[in-house]
Amino acid sequence: MYPKLSINLKKLEDNLNAVAAITKRGGCSLMIVTKGLCADHEMVKMIAANENVDFVADSRVKNIATFADVVRGAGKKTVLLRIPMHCEVADVIKHVDLSFNSELSTIRLLNEEAGKAGKKHDILLMIDMGDLREGIFFKNEDLIFGAVEEILAMENINLYGIGVNLTCYGAIIPKYDNLNGLVEIGRKIEDKFGIKLSMISGGNSSSIYLIDKGELPEGINNLRLGEAFILGNDTAYETKLPGTVDDTLILKAQIVELKEKPSLPIGEVGVDAFGEKPYYEDRGIMQRAIIAIGKQDADLGSMTPCDERIEIMGGSSDHIILDVTKCAGDYKVGDVVEFKLGYGGLLKAATSAYVEREYVR
Ligand SMILES: *Cc1c(COP(=O)(O)O)cnc(C)c1O
Repeated sequence: MYPKLSINLKKLEDNLNAVAAITKRGGCSLMIVTKGLCADHEMVKMIAANENVDFVADSRVKNIATFADVVRGAGKKTVLLRIPMHCEVADVIKHVDLSFNSELSTIRLLNEEAGKAGKKHDILLMIDMGDLREGIFFKNEDLIFGAVEEILAMENINLYGIGVNLTCYGAIIPKYDNLNGLVEIGRKIEDKFGIKLSMISGGNSSSIYLIDKGELPEGINNLRLGEAFILGNDTAYETKLPGTVDDTLILKAQIVELKEKPSLPIGEVGVDAFGEKPYYEDRGIMQRAIIAIGKQDADLGSMTPCDERIEIMGGSSDHIILDVTKCAGDYKVGDVVEFKLGYGGLLKAATSAYVEREYVR
């Protein structure tokens, strides 16, 4: 059945090994992030079995619950990237080995819950180095030290390390200076409290480019990679990482109508199905194909037809309209059109219950 997301596990594993080689060259442990594909179970099994992977992470506890057994069974830790909600701390303690945190009220609840479960729970304290998403702001050292002091006194919480997230909200690019600032905060914590932090996590797919430039500061010993592994992207400067491919995932949709029509709609122009005023270019008479997939399952700005002669014209919830004029009659109703995906496109397709999956091994 279509639409279908084709997941090439062999190519994904090749990509994983390529980014692992870079990461290990940089002296970092490797945390692979599964949220881009909603923790697809076949993909997670491959990741858990790969010897280059040290941690398997996701932003959602629901996803981690589906794979905690597989990952722990392979001797690896599960990691929760999004700072936990108060309402989910019991599930965090159950399924997650290491959670990212920035709020003492939440860490106190985790401590309580871990105590009830008779467990010791690892946390990574997030420091905000300027991207302005999660973390204690780096200039507020008193707040950082105060948090560390209280955490160290907790019976059931282990301060595993500190981390930073960049290039997400504020689009701030990781550089030697901001990452070294994190390392310095780590050193101050270690000196002040006489402890050793196991992990100083230096960011996501936007940090990996620093390794081959020789600019990843000493002391950063972990990276968390999602997009770099799935799509081969360095997300700081949008370059391709050596040894990776960008077609590990292909979205396939079936043509349900193919007709010759004008390029300009006829009648008074109002707003489209999403309340937006459309723009039309007059291309004369065109060959227009409709595929049975829409904005509910796809991100039109984050998908590229594999056949370069095809252009995406637009779409609504359940339909996408393609200009196939240049295809010289190569397509007919019932044919399948294939697309490469960007991160937004794959997130949408992986999240939609209407998109089937197939695996290439
Ligand atoms: C999503 C996420 C990652 C992975 O990001 P990519 O750009 O896909 O590598 C890493 N860390 C945190 C905290 C995240 O939320």
